[in-house]
Amino acid sequence: MAEEQLTAIVVGAGPAGSTAAYVLARAGLEVLLIEKGGTPGSKNMFGGRMYSHALDKIMPGFWSQAPVERLVVKEIITFLDDGRSLSLSCQDAGWLSAHSFTLLRAQFDAWLAAKAEEAGAMLACGIRVDDLLIKEGRVAGIIAGEDQMPADVVIAADGVNSIIAQKAGLRERAPQPRQVGTGAKQVIKLPGQAVSQRFGLAEGNGAAQLFVGQCTKGMAGGGFLYTNRDSISLGLIVNARELQQNKYRISDLLEEFKENPCVAPLIEGGEVVEYSAHLVPEAGLGMLPRLCGDGILVAGDAAGFVLNLGYVVRGMDFAIASGAAAAKAVIAARAAKDFSQRQLGLYRQFLKESFVLRDLEAYRGAPHFLENPRLFTTYPRLAATLAGQLFTVDGSPPEHLLGKILGQMKKGGLGWGQLARDGWKGARQL
Ligand SMILES: Cc1cc2nc3c(=O)[nH]c(=O)nc-3n(C[C@H](O)[C@H](O)[C@H](O)COP(=O)(O)OP(=O)(O)OC[C@H]3O[C@@H](n4cnc5c(N)ncnc54)[C@H](O)[C@@H]3O)c2cc1C
Repeated sequence: MAEEQLTAIVVGAGPAGSTAAYVLARAGLEVLLIEKGGTPGSKNMFGGRMYSHALDKIMPGFWSQAPVERLVVKEIITFLDDGRSLSLSCQDAGWLSAHSFTLLRAQFDAWLAAKAEEAGAMLACGIRVDDLLIKEGRVAGIIAGEDQMPADVVIAADGVNSIIAQKAGLRERAPQPRQVGTGAKQVIKLPGQAVSQRFGLAEGNGAAQLFVGQCTKGMAGGGFLYTNRDSISLGLIVNARELQQNKYRISDLLEEFKENPCVAPLIEGGEVVEYSAHLVPEAGLGMLPRLCGDGILVAGDAAGFVLNLGYVVRGMDFAIASGAAAAKAVIAARAAKDFSQRQLGLYRQFLKESFVLRDLEAYRGAPHFLENPRLFTTYPRLAATLAGQLFTVDGSPPEHLLGKILGQMKKGGLGWGQLARDGWKGARQL
């Protein structure tokens, strides 16, 4: 492999790593992007939608050439209870200006890594980085099998379980089960026209649907559905600790979810062409590692940069923006001929100037708020049951809305005080 000294080695060709490599190469730096998968994206999964703002800043109008699936123009949130549901659907003309797209990672990640290559980065696939090369107490490159590859700086973009951040001492250990969600997803193939018809979409337009309640058996988490060109991405994310404690298997929950009357008609006749499972960091600032050391920076999921607010899941835009910020810090370090932790500390400032740390700080309390079990049991049940009662006409004596609400609150053991406290906290944290 590379004999001469590289400026940077980026570990992991996900969105964080490929963006970092792209920005570095575009600035004329010698950069090697190493990916353990046979091709970038071959080992990667996510729910299905990327907010476009972060990449648009780096590659304006990227969607005209990137393998995006559909432009998301419709958001649906569905509260589920046994045999009942309430769906809220929202459309906003503003989203027509490329606000977010559905994607399939195998195609998208390969495209983004190819853009880094086009810009001048070297891409090496099928190589797993095992360790860091340490010289005089600082990171001086990577070790992969028998190979040692020196570089001025390493960017760890190796995902949620980042062994590189651990080896560098930036993170003490792998994320704990309470800090991550376990996600599972199936891609279900269907004719594009059927996808459009089932969701009331014009050609090229897409929908994103999130589900809360019965699909996770009351555990913290939810279901997701994203429409692709000619397939649907359907899955669940459940807090890993609750999943373990309750001895559920995510694959079984997903099979059950597919049979839910709200979901089954949407995927009817489809063929499962892909199944994948992955962890998602969910503890926000609560799981932030040290972001840099001498000769090393950490970006994307490896740093825990994901924001899951229940109604919005953002990891791709954080990965892209943090990869770009890491690259900017390396470019400044190269100019200063100083790759020390002190100099690389500029990374934090760049993260603040982008939205990454700003947004995580703004929603600092959200992960704790989302541990409230009533959000996944009492409230979805209340919403679905009340809606069901509202639309039921069967000759029973009439009851005004207030009576219905009070009846359901009593049934759910929910008092006004608790409701007000949860509402107040939710309004402040989400
Ligand atoms: C179920 C689920 C649903 C999600 N839904 C969404 C969503 O809809 N929208 C959204 O924005 N985000 C979503 N996310 C989050 C999003 O997927 C991540 O935030 C994003 O992929 C992070 O990108 P990354 O580049 O940091 O890491 P990754 O995408 O994990 O990429 C890491 C790369 O490093 C490689 N690698 C790992 N170790 C090594 C090694 N030792 N040597 C070489 N290469 C290595 C891996 O093969 C991989 O290519 C979801 C996540 C999950 C799990």
